Amino acid sequence: MIDKNARSSILVVDDDYEISQLMYCILSEENYHVEIASSGKQVLNYKNLKSIDLILLDINMPGINGYELCNKLKESYETKEIPIIFLTGNSLPEEKIKGFNCGAIDYVTKPFNGSELLARIRNHLELKHNKDRLKEMALMDGLTRLYNHSYMHERLSEEISNSKRHKHKLSLIMIDLDNFKEINDTYGHKFGDLVLQKISASIKELIREEDVAGRYGGEEFIIILPNTDLSSALKVAEKIRSTVKKLVWNNENLKTTLSGGVYSLEDESINEFIEKTDTLLYKAKNTGKDRIVSGLSVGF
Ligand SMILES: [Mg+2]
Repeated sequence: MIDKNARSSILVVDDDYEISQLMYCILSEENYHVEIASSGKQVLNYKNLKSIDLILLDINMPGINGYELCNKLKESYETKEIPIIFLTGNSLPEEKIKGFNCGAIDYVTKPFNGSELLARIRNHLELKHNKDRLKEMALMDGLTRLYNHSYMHERLSEEISNSKRHKHKLSLIMIDLDNFKEINDTYGHKFGDLVLQKISASIKELIREEDVAGRYGGEEFIIILPNTDLSSALKVAEKIRSTVKKLVWNNENLKTTLSGGVYSLEDESINEFIEKTDTLLYKAKNTGKDRIVSGLSVGF
């Protein structure tokens, strides 16, 4: 979620210690949160990239150069929206064009004027924040504050590509609340909405930062778990199931249970992946509800 009052974080990537220190001083003075990296490798191993709002990137660095790093960051779903400004001694037009072709938003040459650079940074940050806000509105389900169907579909497709490219495991959980129609009919739609909100909050609490949860349909949820094998995904699904079952409602007679399917990607297309997980979910429904069925248990 976007916090309008949060300080913007800027990552300075330069192998020249003096430039990094100078940037640190200029940016800290403007109340930005500043982080420093001295190589492309360090950036790629960075755990906190998601929290970075803008990157100031040198080009000539040992190992991975700025162009290569920019290309890599623009390839990844997690980092492709972070604006990158090249800050470099390379001032030839073809070098600038190459920088823009890599996806940089701006290109500033050394020696630079501090005030001008700050003005550019301010503008790019404002554009980034506005873009984030619009994006969030377009991607979220208004009721549950989970991602919506179309975002989840797009994201799943990205994660499948990532998983195939890097040979990482990728698992999917599909969850459907049991007897939701009856809950709505008995307690009213307003209460039904409350149930969906509370269960969504539980799901958010039980998944890791890197997992992605969405509302896929009326009372159907989907969770993408990158870098996760089937048995670990099954544990997450079981935890969600048992937590939701223990939720206490105003009406003590009410018990909320859910059914789920869990499947780990082999070599399927996105539609096959969803279909197989959905088949497992319906197996859970058809064998008594309040249970999770995983890929292994039906012999996929
Ligand atoms: Mg350099």
